[in-house]
Amino acid sequence: MVRKLAASGISNGQVLQVMGSVERHRFVDTALANQAYEDTSLPIGLGQTISKPNVVARMLELLLEGRDRPLGRVLEVGTGCGYQAAVLSRLCAEVYTIERLKGLHEKARELLRPFRIANVHLLLGDGILGFASGAPYDGIVAAAGGESIPPAWTDQLAVGGRLVAPAHMGTRGQSLVVVERTPKGLAHTVLEAVQFVPLKSGIA
Ligand code: SAH
Repeated sequence: MVRKLAASGISNGQVLQVMGSVERHRFVDTALANQAYEDTSLPIGLGQTISKPNVVARMLELLLEGRDRPLGRVLEVGTGCGYQAAVLSRLCAEVYTIERLKGLHEKARELLRPFRIANVHLLLGDGILGFASGAPYDGIVAAAGGESIPPAWTDQLAVGGRLVAPAHMGTRGQSLVVVERTPKGLAHTVLEAVQFVPLKSGIA
């Protein structure tokens, strides 16, 4: 999987090393385990999917880009099965990860337990509101995309912090968006087209 990621253009050595160290097959059903190291998204229940390894790596690479200090606190919106949270836990000091579906929030707790990770905080809630108690964040990464970037996310971003999220930018369909908070304000960059599950409000 790591070789494929490198061949597809992922060049951050730390991201490649960490992606190689978290066993993705432990986050999918046994029947799908043989596909766990393919570059494909897979169902995790309740109509949601575990993101493609390539997309996870790309987002983490963008999160780390241009950073001269280690990442402190990071907010992940859309815990799903907890795979990306496990990867993130090895790239930053603290991970706050929020999921709106109770079934998946509990599934992630079960799946992460054997890893004995101390720096991942699993939250049940509406990630559109971010998680103010953990703010400000050096990084915010969303695994679900809405019409725009929720204002709470940019409000909760530290100066020098970066947000990486899918969003529908006008009529162009869903794209990956990077927002940086610089001392002078917010800087937006719209990157390639992507396909993430929809960002929905409320918990269920
Ligand atoms: N990072 C996950 C990917 C999960 S898919 C992984 O590694 O598996 C995206 C997740 O975002 C879904 O579980 C979906 O329920 C969740 N989601 C969608 N809208 C949300 C919201 N407003 N707040 C929190 N989670 C949300």
